[in-house]
Amino acid sequence: MLHERLEPIYESVVDRNRGETEFHQAVREVLESLGPVLAKHPEYADHKIIERICEPERQIVFRVPWEDDRGEVQINRGFRIEFNSALGPYKGGLRFHPSVYQGIVKFLGFEQVFKNALTGLPIGGGKGGADFDPKGRSEREVMRFCQSYMTELHRHIGEYTDVPAGDAGVGGREVGYLFGQYKRICNRYESGVLTGKELAYGGARVRTEATGYGCAFFVHEMLAARGESFEGKRVVVSGSGNVAIYTMEKVHQFGGTVVACSDSDGYLYDEQGIDVELVKQLKEVERERISAYAQRSGGRFLPGRRVWEVPCEVAMPSATQNEINGTDAAMLVRNGCVAVGEGANMPCTPEAVRDFQEAGVAFGPGKAANAGGVATSALEMQQNASRDSWSFEFSENRLEEIMKDVHARCHDTAAEYGMPGNYVAGANIAGFTRVADAMLGLGLI
Ligand code: GLU
Repeated sequence: MLHERLEPIYESVVDRNRGETEFHQAVREVLESLGPVLAKHPEYADHKIIERICEPERQIVFRVPWEDDRGEVQINRGFRIEFNSALGPYKGGLRFHPSVYQGIVKFLGFEQVFKNALTGLPIGGGKGGADFDPKGRSEREVMRFCQSYMTELHRHIGEYTDVPAGDAGVGGREVGYLFGQYKRICNRYESGVLTGKELAYGGARVRTEATGYGCAFFVHEMLAARGESFEGKRVVVSGSGNVAIYTMEKVHQFGGTVVACSDSDGYLYDEQGIDVELVKQLKEVERERISAYAQRSGGRFLPGRRVWEVPCEVAMPSATQNEINGTDAAMLVRNGCVAVGEGANMPCTPEAVRDFQEAGVAFGPGKAANAGGVATSALEMQQNASRDSWSFEFSENRLEEIMKDVHARCHDTAAEYGMPGNYVAGANIAGFTRVADAMLGLGLI
């Protein structure tokens, strides 16, 4: 339910951003938490902070022409949405996936604003991408695409302006091609303009692992707050990309057993615990599908099936938006799920979130649970700015501290507003008030 003062704001967002359903969903979810904030802080309403926060500061849409291996011209659409820079330069990843359009980039950018605020670090929020499908493309095609994409993007970004990174479809390889092109066009070795770089050219240790590790740290904190731990728990992780792989690795270090992971073809089940090294080899080195796992090791691949049918105590959706619907959530609850940590952005539908909360499941929303990736990007910016390079151990400790802080911020804010244990409300309110206070201080921006 929306507070009566928030309903017209939501309606206006829907009206001004027609057809962008994912964006509407993300806005509604935040506004649903803000009723009690308005009662406590009338100044936010007086200055129309909520209306302003829902409108991106700048939206860039551009043509990305490139030539494929057959010499044929291909045209994609590129996006960069610079959503909010009250706390620092716009910061957020680039997603290359055929589903990408304005509504997806806007939802991701909007989430990013609050997520970045929750880290406590000086970063604003933005997001970008293209409707390019990297699947089946050769290395050279990916490089040509990245170069063309950056040929336009370079004029909009900079270490003090806007700092992109990876997201789905954009990993170290793509960030490398993007950075190479930026450097070539601008003739500046501006390391801090992109994060998620490889170690060889200004990257940071633990950045690759950060989103997954961070999500495991967050769930560890949620469980600890209830006097529980990962020890002896069965965990289901969806996806098999970067977030999923390092979530699995850290869950195993915490003593949990990841019994399943997935890709868009189906899921892999291994009751002994997924062999993470093998998944890494398949995905990161061979760029294979996970169905190849079953031929090389134990475990079964179940094509076309939904991973949420696997009984578990902890679910960590790490694939994409709206991948757990109400039916999946009901099944997870029936099978004894006690905690959910969103490794992906908005992987649970509003119905699923409600089901989890009503069933008393500890539910960590993406903007808190997966904040470790962007937080470690901010650490990469810090290392670039000071021309330094930290050790793995030091970087991981910083990440762990940050995730403990993010958890505490959500947990304590929820309690302060009379909703103990409600991490959705805690994350939305804590993220929002940090950005809102900065906006108030900066005048009418
Ligand atoms: N794409 C990641 C996210 O959703 C990381 C963004 C970044 O490192 O800038 O938070």
